Amino acid sequence: MATFVAHTLEQVEIIHPEGSVATQAGHKHFTFRHSPVERPTKAHSLIVNINDIPNFNSQPSSITQLNLGTRFISVQNFLHVMHATSTSLTRASLYIVYDIPPTTLDHGHVSSIKMVALTSLSLRLVNTSLNPAYILPIEMSALKDFTAEWADSYTPFEWDIKMFTRLLKSASNSLRSFRLSDLPSYPAPGRWQHRMAHKVSPDDLNELLRTVPNLETLALPTSISIPISILTSISHGALLPHLNDFGLATKNDLKSILSHVRFRNQDYTTAGVSPITALRLTIPLTSHAARADVHSQVDSLALRKGYSLLFLGTCFVCSSHCYFGN
Ligand SMILES: [Zn+2]
Repeated sequence: MATFVAHTLEQVEIIHPEGSVATQAGHKHFTFRHSPVERPTKAHSLIVNINDIPNFNSQPSSITQLNLGTRFISVQNFLHVMHATSTSLTRASLYIVYDIPPTTLDHGHVSSIKMVALTSLSLRLVNTSLNPAYILPIEMSALKDFTAEWADSYTPFEWDIKMFTRLLKSASNSLRSFRLSDLPSYPAPGRWQHRMAHKVSPDDLNELLRTVPNLETLALPTSISIPISILTSISHGALLPHLNDFGLATKNDLKSILSHVRFRNQDYTTAGVSPITALRLTIPLTSHAARADVHSQVDSLALRKGYSLLFLGTCFVCSSHCYFGN
């Protein structure tokens, strides 16, 4: 699958609580100096030969950490890997492409694979809409950290929220960190209108967040604009009372987001709710003066761990911020 970045990232600015500013061009990933997120250690990761994966089916493995890097595998091979490592695997980073034709995949009759030791799972998922009813049959009752990058050539930017709700049901009690992000991709011809409004259903998102109530870290992708009703629930601590690291994108609702964060942080002591201590905002690139204004607004929240602002440029095809959620 050919991939390229559908928009241009023109500036990343990183503000630390100490007040130092770093500017980078052309980078998508960034961290706080005092990152509250535990990063996977690469030292113990294992790169597996892609040709060995079918053998996982018959040979139970004691692999504890698995990182396939940018090599992608089919759903079927993913299940082989999960099955073989179900009692040993603690951390995994895997890239799954749904449109590699399965040979023996039977949607209705796959029993769940219990991943008893898995605490951290990072998935790149591509073209899940080809099998919309299919849910990866894995149970992850120890999972603490889940990250998904997703792209779909057929339904670009239309996140299937229900899919994640079902996938994470078994991790309902354990999950602490949940991050979703858009995987840059090239939509199938005719499938993507650049001014198309892609909206996430507030009910679906609400259900998803209620499925994982103990989250401390939440990051939403650029293509999902958080519904105000959800934001209100979070600001009152009715949703995600333990949340402290919050990443989200917005095209039009910056002021509202900041006031909701302010509300939560000022009332948390009486409500028994964690304050937001780290805020990661992705917003459209604007004029220098407007960016300075954004900085001072976020600065005034006095967040304990700091904040980051990611300013994204326009799509090079339609010259708008078409890839933001509405
Ligand atoms: Zn566009």
